[in-house]
Amino acid sequence: MSTGADRSDHSCHAADCDAVCRPEFLMCPAHWRMVPYDIQARVYAHYRRGQCDDKRPSLSWISAAKEAVTAVGKAEGKPVALINRQLRVLDVFVGAAAAAARNTTTTTPTRR
Ligand SMILES: [Zn+2]
Repeated sequence: MSTGADRSDHSCHAADCDAVCRPEFLMCPAHWRMVPYDIQARVYAHYRRGQCDDKRPSLSWISAAKEAVTAVGKAEGKPVALINRQLRVLDVFVGAAAAAARNTTTTTPTRR
């Protein structure tokens, strides 16, 4: 299916979980099952094929993914600091996503 990409370095985004999972999945199956269905649906809805390869998921996906990470962390009773650390992992993508969004809109920068 895919070529070249190293799939061994992607692990579950849930707090405190080192389970290796495929990049197209946010979490290992055990944690994904803990995500409420409505959040799961949003993660799927905003998922774009290849976003894991170019590291440019959409902002909508990132916010849905964060909800999922938070939901699992709370369900497991993880400390808020630990959950926040997991959320910051996803923040890495925000810069790229924001840049992509800027490139697709042709607004002229306004200065006030
Ligand atoms: Zn996991």
